[in-house]
Amino acid sequence: MTQNKDKVVGIPRAMSFYHNYPFYHGFFTALGIKIVLSDVTTKQTLSNGSALVVTETCLPIKIYVGHVLNLLDKGIDKIFVPSIQSVDYKIYNCSKIRGLPDLIRNVVKRDFTLIEPTLDKSEKNQGLYEFLKEAAAPFGITDEKVIKEASKAGWRTYNNFHIMSKSGMSYKKAMNYALQGKVFIENNNKEYPISVALVAHGYNIYDERASMKIIDKLESMDVQVHTSLQLSNEQMVEGINALGEKLYWANEFEMTGTAGHYLKDNKIDGIIALNAFGCGPDSLMVERISRRAKQFAKPVLHLTVDEQTGEAGFITRLEAFVDMLFRKKRATIINKIDINSKSEYIPNTNFIETK
Ligand code: SF4
Repeated sequence: MTQNKDKVVGIPRAMSFYHNYPFYHGFFTALGIKIVLSDVTTKQTLSNGSALVVTETCLPIKIYVGHVLNLLDKGIDKIFVPSIQSVDYKIYNCSKIRGLPDLIRNVVKRDFTLIEPTLDKSEKNQGLYEFLKEAAAPFGITDEKVIKEASKAGWRTYNNFHIMSKSGMSYKKAMNYALQGKVFIENNNKEYPISVALVAHGYNIYDERASMKIIDKLESMDVQVHTSLQLSNEQMVEGINALGEKLYWANEFEMTGTAGHYLKDNKIDGIIALNAFGCGPDSLMVERISRRAKQFAKPVLHLTVDEQTGEAGFITRLEAFVDMLFRKKRATIINKIDINSKSEYIPNTNFIETK
């Protein structure tokens, strides 16, 4: 069956996909636009993307370019590449996220249409409605009422996803249920001896090639992982204030805010900050997080990933950190036992049979 190409949009499975896809899905589907996603990131996606940009470019952008190429190879000719400049007044994204459509236009020299809406709540005072109008216009949809209704559908899917994520459900499960229009609250009563907060952008955590499946690896070591998805915006803003920082970067929520919140949380044993090589904003944020962490007496592991990162070395560093957390916890528990206490241990002898 031939597809009506006019009503098909390609969405790269990269960058803002990892936070906003539930919204994009609800919105485009309500408009009757079929979505084609790029395939999950592979070594090939990364090397195709890397071949078109300068070496110093950060890993997530190289991956993004690879996903655009993947969609073009699938025959998709309208690709959604938003320019998310500023998410609130004077709160900016990094220049690569802001200039994403220009970057793609300049490096991918193939014939296709960029769907490039702009969200800029600072300089252009261009809010969500204008953004959605620009996203719908290339498909011939201009009716304000229709766009606003589709926006509500987008928010419904987005909110369902976040409700489930906050309940502790895994990212993949929450995403699957949300896209099916379902909401479940999971009661995960499994107890873990160690808990860590993973501080990183969604695209560095949930892209399993970029993150090297860090969550699965930690869980297999009996470590519970907390991320920004379990927090509200208010908790993250409070976290930024707790570290004495000011909100400037849009990414500050999931980096500084998440770290600040979990550093204050007694149930968290350590922080793992994961960032991509070549990321300017993260190198500043992680440096400040590491300095502030000292006053909370919490260990911080800083991992940087790029296309050369070897899995063996990555696992070794994780294991060493987790091992140190276990030893620290054991020492804390032992020190709490009062060895001068008069109470004696009386062995239980009930099981000894007497003749
Ligand atoms: S915030 Fe960092 S990792 Fe993300 S696109 Fe910008 S430079 Fe790259």
